[in-house]
Amino acid sequence: MKRIAVLTSGGDAPGMNAAIRAVVRNGIYHGLHVFGVYRGYTGLIQGDFKELSVGSVGDVIQRGGTILYSARCDEFRTEEGRQQAVEQLRKHQIDGLITIGGDGTFQGAKKLTELGFPTIGVPGTIDNDINGTDYTIGFDTAINTVIDAIDRIRDTATSHERTYIVEVMGRDAGDIALLAGLAGGAESILIPEVNSSLEEIVARLKHGADRGKKHSIIIVAEGVGSAVDIGRQVQKATGFETRITVLGHVQRGGTPTAFDRVLASRMGAKAVDLLLSGKKDMMVAIRNNEVLGIDFDEASGQKHHLDLSNHHLASILSI
Ligand code: ATP
Repeated sequence: MKRIAVLTSGGDAPGMNAAIRAVVRNGIYHGLHVFGVYRGYTGLIQGDFKELSVGSVGDVIQRGGTILYSARCDEFRTEEGRQQAVEQLRKHQIDGLITIGGDGTFQGAKKLTELGFPTIGVPGTIDNDINGTDYTIGFDTAINTVIDAIDRIRDTATSHERTYIVEVMGRDAGDIALLAGLAGGAESILIPEVNSSLEEIVARLKHGADRGKKHSIIIVAEGVGSAVDIGRQVQKATGFETRITVLGHVQRGGTPTAFDRVLASRMGAKAVDLLLSGKKDMMVAIRNNEVLGIDFDEASGQKHHLDLSNHHLASILSI
C-alpha cells in the first residue's frame, strides 16, 4: 500500500478535521502518500483529489466543520456513479480509501468494497446513531452545545416561571436528547425509543409546580415530532406559559471538545493502521475505550443500541 485517500461525507460533525489530520499524519508517518477527496462522493466521481502534506492539516485540530467539505451525492447511489468513482481511484493509483461520515456514507462505502476497492469507515456524525460503536465523532461536542443552551434557557425560564420545550437533533435516534437532558437536568426527555404520553408529561409538570418549581424544561428529540406541536398540547393541558426553542444547526458546528479531538485522532490513525494491515471493509469503532475495527455489516444499516437506563435515571433525578 503506497497511496491512500480520505473524504468526509453526509452531515458534518465537529472533530472531522481532527480525524483527517490523524489520517494524513499517521499515513505519512508510515511512508504513504495521502490524498484528500473534496466534497465526499461527488469529488470521488469527479476526480477532485489533492495530495495532503503534513503542513496542510496544521491548525485544524480545533476547527469544526471539515476542510475537505462534505456533500450528499445521489449519483453515488447508482451503479454507474460508483463505477466512475472506482475508475477515478484507479486513475490516481489509490490503494485504499478512508470515508468519514454516518450510516449513509458507510452503505456507500460497503458498495465500494463489493467492487473490490479497500475502504475503511470512520464514524463522524453528531447523532451517535451508528451500531457497534459506543461513540461517534462529534456527539460529545453536540451534547455540550445543547447543555450550554439548556443552562441559558434555564436562567430565563426561572425568571419568567415558564415551561420551555427544547427540540434537539439526532434524526431517528434519541442519544443527543437523552444525554443532554440528563446532564442538563431536564424535567422530561422525549425520545423515539421510549413512548411518553401527554398525560405523563403533564403529571410531571404539575407535580413539579406543586412542590414550588419555578421552571420546567422538556427536551424533545427531532425523531419524536415537532416541539411546536408538543408545546401547544402541553400549554393547553396545563395552562402553563410555554415557549419553544428549536436549536437546529448550532448543534453541528463549533470547536470540538477534548473528548472528540482525542476520539477523532485515535479513530483516524486506526483507519490507516487497518488499511496497512490489509483490512478492506471495516468501520473503526470504540468499545469500552478500546479502538478497533468491526465489519461494515455490523455497523451499517443496523439499528443502534441506546442505553435506556439513563432515561429511567433522568426521570428519577428530575422528580
Ligand atoms: P449523517 O448521518 O450525518 O447525515 P450520513 O453519512 O448518514 O451522515 P447520508 O446523506 O445518508 O449521510 O449519506 C451520505 C452519502 O452517502 C449520500 O449522499 C450518498 O452519496 C451515499 N449513500 C448513502 N446511502 C447509500 C446507499 N445505500 N448506496 C450508495 N451510496 C449511498
